[in-house]
Amino acid sequence: MELRDRFQGAMVGLAVGDALGRPTEFITTLEAIHERFGPEGVTDFVADWHPAGTYTDDTQMSLCVARALLKAGRGTLDELMTVMAEEFVAWDRSPENDRAPGVTCRAGCEKLAKGVPWREAGVAESKGCGSAMRTAPIGLHYLEDEDQLIEVARASSLLTHGHPTALAAAAGTALLVAWAARGEDPPEYPARLAKVMIDMADGKEVASLVQRIPEVLTEPPEAVLHHGGLGEAWTGEEAVASALYCFCRSPEDFRQTVTVGANTVGDSDSIACIAGAISGAFNGISAVPKSWREQVENSAYLHEIAVDLLASRCAIG
Ligand SMILES: [Mg+2]
Repeated sequence: MELRDRFQGAMVGLAVGDALGRPTEFITTLEAIHERFGPEGVTDFVADWHPAGTYTDDTQMSLCVARALLKAGRGTLDELMTVMAEEFVAWDRSPENDRAPGVTCRAGCEKLAKGVPWREAGVAESKGCGSAMRTAPIGLHYLEDEDQLIEVARASSLLTHGHPTALAAAAGTALLVAWAARGEDPPEYPARLAKVMIDMADGKEVASLVQRIPEVLTEPPEAVLHHGGLGEAWTGEEAVASALYCFCRSPEDFRQTVTVGANTVGDSDSIACIAGAISGAFNGISAVPKSWREQVENSAYLHEIAVDLLASRCAIG
């Protein structure tokens, strides 16, 4: 498969997952999801106060990260993070920032807007999933350079989320997208990610959850994606582990992966967004159902920015 298919699969896939999970983000029981959307839950885009296919802050912030990489991905870390901060602040002030943005992301943006340096702007004690949900483009940009990938993904968390686990989780999403875009073997991802996280020293919380994925893989989502299992994904380590569980149980089936993520009692849009990025990168754009890849908000822009990311990526050699 061509890298172009994988890059478009990741960028369109994350937006599709996010848009599918949007209507269920704040529905906290499966009974209520089934009552509202039928026995299968959400299986397609839903129109409510937003048109069908509308994505949320997860995709908006991923696009901020992507644009920053396009503008400054070959500069120094400080140059890149300065541009990323500008993108975040512009998003925070945008009228389109009406998609249930995370409070921690907004708090970070307010500090960045006041001129607080990027390394200090993040909420120190927050390990919410707001920084792990948006790093798929970093996985694409540094596809061939894992050391830089990890450094940049961790730095990108600091703009809003300063907890060590949030930094590790942000690197986790980017790594999974890179491995998927390289077409590497999905069953290896949980143990491999756990090893990287343990080596990272502050990745222990991510490691302890992803290590459990092989043993829960045969258990149904309703038993896994809640407090008794991998959690509800409001935190970075839970979001990464939940998304990886969704991907690993159906590695070649994009539709299955994102709909399982979207129909959860927890942070559905973020799980489905990360899972959609991984599955889209692994299976390519053609694996995203046609109606979804065409109807998702800003479809043409998502396809284009993926091609731009491919052209500007940091290739070795
Ligand atoms: Mg969201």
